[in-house]
Amino acid sequence: MSASIFLNLDVVSMKTVTNERGKRKNKNLKMSETIYDLCVIGGGMFGSSAARYASANVALKVCLIGPNEPTPEEFVTREIFGAHYDEARITRVLDDTPACQVLSKNSIESYKELKKLSGIDFHSPVGCIFMGPKDGAFMLKYLENSAIHNVPVVDLSDRETFEKRFPFLKLNYNECVLLDDNGGGHISPRKFVSAQKKVAYMQGCDIIDSVVCSAEILKDGIHEVRTESKGIIKAKRLLIATGAFANLKEFDVLKPLVLKRCKTTAVMLKITENEALRLSSMPAVIKRGCKTDLGAYILPPVKYPDGNYYMKIGGSFDYETGEELKTLDDLRKWYLSDGDERMTDILVNFINELIPGLKFTDLSRMTCVTCCTPSGLPYVDRVSPTVTVAVSGNGKGAKFSDEIGKIAAHLSITGQWNSELPRNMFHAIFQKNH
Ligand SMILES: Cc1cc2nc3c(=O)[nH]c(=O)nc-3n(C[C@H](O)[C@H](O)[C@H](O)COP(=O)(O)OP(=O)(O)OC[C@H]3O[C@@H](n4cnc5c(N)ncnc54)[C@H](O)[C@@H]3O)c2cc1C
Repeated sequence: MSASIFLNLDVVSMKTVTNERGKRKNKNLKMSETIYDLCVIGGGMFGSSAARYASANVALKVCLIGPNEPTPEEFVTREIFGAHYDEARITRVLDDTPACQVLSKNSIESYKELKKLSGIDFHSPVGCIFMGPKDGAFMLKYLENSAIHNVPVVDLSDRETFEKRFPFLKLNYNECVLLDDNGGGHISPRKFVSAQKKVAYMQGCDIIDSVVCSAEILKDGIHEVRTESKGIIKAKRLLIATGAFANLKEFDVLKPLVLKRCKTTAVMLKITENEALRLSSMPAVIKRGCKTDLGAYILPPVKYPDGNYYMKIGGSFDYETGEELKTLDDLRKWYLSDGDERMTDILVNFINELIPGLKFTDLSRMTCVTCCTPSGLPYVDRVSPTVTVAVSGNGKGAKFSDEIGKIAAHLSITGQWNSELPRNMFHAIFQKNH
């Protein structure tokens, strides 16, 4: 099963947004007349965030180009997809990479403002727990990062305390647990993107529902962006935020990046409303197994647009061993496939171990693509005086996408780096043979 069956028809769609501004609805933009100050390419989690921050500046004419999430009928005809077609992504400050903690903390702090401005509630701060063997490197890293970087966590390793708080979760004797409940929990990536686009639109950003086929710079320094269905768009600056699809279309303005695009399969367990109620105090979980070396993430029950509750479980990703996708056709075939069958048993066994007696009524698989860099951090870089790139969430970009959008928008507009983290940590790495 593909992600498309979970298309959220309840989310405030751009149709609703455009309706608010009457005349702009369905109006063909006169592309040749408008020269945008900034054109953001890719309306996913990074791009929509960047469009909101950039368009807050009243002096700038900004547009955001990217295809809307396909309907189930459109899904099979699409070539380009996004990693945000879902209802839940874990958000948390505690991370095994210190820089991600800074990005996530800033992002989580900004959720309230985005909710206020958009009127869209996308954040469920139910907490996130980290569980794993007491003596393993997995938990040691989290303990270290919490202590060194002052990330507030609660140690829930005491069995009695843990069982009182989460009576339906099993804690093994050799395991320890940390709870991050300072905004940790989950966000709806669909609602998050809708919220960012809605605010951007209200600030005057043109939201253009199309795929970009090519992007080049002309002799006069203006960029020409060719779209599949909305003609040619001209812009002084470009911000490329096309996720796993970076470098897969003819973007002359961006040399090939070192990026690894990997297959990921998540398993969706359908549960009854009663079971969802029983587990309603469950946090998001990141766990390293005791018997195997498998790491997995588990989302608590979340209501999906079809009215049912689902729990999602996925395996943690390894940059070294992940199975790679290289071409547009590879990615398309993967998105349209049923995913990796082998993951079903592995992940179901894993969740059964954590929640003994979990009752689910149906099971399906969701495919997605994780986009990774050697550093484990996104590339946020000005690759030329007029082109900025913001790509690669390394499997955990949802939680800090607001901050990436903010940094990228500022960098693109001003050339200045607006983060307490060193700029060179985010430099783009290009393939050597190009
Ligand atoms: C199964 C799965 C589970 C995950 N779980 C978590 C989690 O729990 N927590 C977490 O923090 N992160 C998680 N992530 C990662 C997170 O979803 C991504 O890091 C995040 O979506 C990256 O945002 P992005 O904007 O870079 O890419 P995307 O969200 O994929 O957006 C890219 C956008 O670019 C558009 N685009 C591409 N090419 C073009 C083009 N040529 N023209 C126009 N538009 C184009 C696409 O349509 C898409 O909308 C998960 C990812 C997957 C796959």
